[in-house]
Amino acid sequence: MDDFDPESITPDQAAEHIQSTICPVLETETVSTMEALDRVLAVEMHSEIDVPGHTNSAMDGYAVRGQDLPSDSPETFTLIGSSFAGHPYDGSVGAGECVRIMTGGVMPDSSDTVVIQERVRVFGDTEIEIPAGEKPGQNVRAAGEDIAAGNVILEPGRLIGSADLGLLASVGIAEVSVLRRVRVAFFSTGDELQEVGEPLQDGHIYNSNRYTLSAMLRRLHVDALDLGVVRDDRAAVVEAFRAASEQADMVITSGGVSVGEADYVKDVLGELGDVNFWKVAIKPGRPLAFGQIGPAKFFGLPGNPVSVMVTFYQFVRPALLRMAGMAEQPPLALQVPVTSPLRKRQGRVEYQRGTLRRAQDGSHTVACTGAQGSGILTSMSQANCFIVLPMERANVQEGETVEVIPFSGIT
Ligand code: AMP
Ligand code: MG
Repeated sequence: MDDFDPESITPDQAAEHIQSTICPVLETETVSTMEALDRVLAVEMHSEIDVPGHTNSAMDGYAVRGQDLPSDSPETFTLIGSSFAGHPYDGSVGAGECVRIMTGGVMPDSSDTVVIQERVRVFGDTEIEIPAGEKPGQNVRAAGEDIAAGNVILEPGRLIGSADLGLLASVGIAEVSVLRRVRVAFFSTGDELQEVGEPLQDGHIYNSNRYTLSAMLRRLHVDALDLGVVRDDRAAVVEAFRAASEQADMVITSGGVSVGEADYVKDVLGELGDVNFWKVAIKPGRPLAFGQIGPAKFFGLPGNPVSVMVTFYQFVRPALLRMAGMAEQPPLALQVPVTSPLRKRQGRVEYQRGTLRRAQDGSHTVACTGAQGSGILTSMSQANCFIVLPMERANVQEGETVEVIPFSGIT
């Protein structure tokens, strides 16, 4: 990092620096499979069994030996029994014989083919007629075709989803080892902040960042510790940082990181920890503090409500995913035409807020949500995507292609 200027950096440099300092948690705990949703798997999981466990029928019909299928004209088969799901036929199928079988029924010994019931004519309880043209091996699901015994079914670092719970259950696994949840303490600083429920005093604002931060943390399945508001008082700020860093893996604050801020945040951080104050070439979200306080990582996000969300998305989220032990996955991005011109200054990355729409013909377009000020939280609320305009890009004309990152799953 020879060209690393701690004061002014690109978003990529900031992200790289942050990621290089983050270590995944190591402690594990055992949870029941049912409780494992949204936890991070600690170890590789194998199956000890085949799934399906037996070769079975994919359709309702009749199990026969493929070599007995008629080639030219219909032939009669003797019905010798049945194999229903959970009630296998206990015997083998000989030449010219068949077994009534239902979907999921275990294929009887010697049989390897199912003729679907719609193709056969049934004569009483003991005989059926199978037409020519059926294919040996058809309509059968092989034992182990989903999972073979010994196969790896899930890799460590995986965020366990709904299908994974089913997968674990399908191979009979009742408990899994997961990484412990990351603990994040967060608070806001500022004498202007008031809590929802209090009457608003002159010149004050409601503490909205508390709500957006809490919600974004919940979406990432961390243990969030809400420390509320800390007044612009040096002793209170010192105490808050000390307490937060002793209880959490990461401490996040909003506000108080801009230049000329009349508070104690910077001062106190210089004393308690090792924190960089950056001017990141990103809009919104230019001022950003990142570093270490005692054992905890620290993010000082800007105070403006949209800046909080953008910097959280851009920097905190990847850091938390890494800390939580998750394999990094870049978010889904689309290239779509924009329906109106966008104002953009070169030399910084802009995260504008957009509405991604799907037209009747299946094509997508994106529109800007309107005023893009960093205090305009309605622009986030109305949006369903970020429009990400890279550093070198200038004003965008209507119809030009831009990159969008849909909010689904990230906000
Ligand atoms: P600061 O970075 O402290 O100068 O704050 C920038 C702007 O964000 C100011 O208008 C603050 O009033 C506002 N702000 C700071 N903290 C919060 C908060 N917790 N909720 C809503 N707005 C905030
Ligand atoms: Mg402030």
